[in-house]
Amino acid sequence: ECPSLTGKVDFRDVSFSYKADSPILNGVTFQAMPGEKVAIVGPTGSGKTTIVNLLTRFYEGTDGSITIDGFDIRKLNKRGLRSQIGMVLQDAHVFSGTIRENIRFGRLEATDKEVEKAARLANAADFIARLPHGYDTMLETEGSNLSHGQRQLLTIARAILADPAILILDEATSSVDTRTEMQIQQAMKTLMQGRTSFVIAHRLSTIQDADRILVIQSGRIVEQGPHEQL
Ligand code: ATP
Repeated sequence: ECPSLTGKVDFRDVSFSYKADSPILNGVTFQAMPGEKVAIVGPTGSGKTTIVNLLTRFYEGTDGSITIDGFDIRKLNKRGLRSQIGMVLQDAHVFSGTIRENIRFGRLEATDKEVEKAARLANAADFIARLPHGYDTMLETEGSNLSHGQRQLLTIARAILADPAILILDEATSSVDTRTEMQIQQAMKTLMQGRTSFVIAHRLSTIQDADRILVIQSGRIVEQGPHEQL
């Protein structure tokens, strides 16, 4: 079973390797308090994604400990744990089905009203309203009839509906138009409100807004703290 979590995350001396003999993380220690926004920055291949992969138990076999609200995540029910961690990744995952079904995937028992409210909060309601059948529009495989930005807004709506205590966000590096970009930024802000959020950050503004920044280099945290202190 997995208790309802508030989102206090604690990594203590976490080391990890995907394969024997090539350590990817080395003694990673940090803490995030409930509701804090943590920006993870560092060069490509430094281990940013690996950190969040361990939090969701996408990979296991770490040295050290990872706890949420004091619970060792290895002792939590995996499905229960993941239901409390929302993810908005660059490669926004949508499946064939209607817009409504795609958003409701966040919380299957949600009413139409709740689905539509989540879409409004995610700045997705406008583009949905312009689709031929609105919320009942069928998405093609991988959402190929939507733009990249629209897919992002849809996954943000899904995450808002799911209402998780913890979030993992992978800030997009691919270009969308300025207006969509602003909508995505604003929707992400709404989504992060009151949740412990880990953002793999590429934008200076995201880094400046973070409560805590983790600077990763070759699998180690080389600096951490708020922006002013780094
Ligand atoms: P990027 O900014 O490019 O996404 P990152 O900081 O997120 O990089 P990771 O994806 O965590 O970096 O990768 C860290 C290291 O682990 C890299 O050297 C990568 O090649 C290696 N790695 C990542 N995933 C695997 C895997 N599934 N199996 C083996 N090695 C992996």
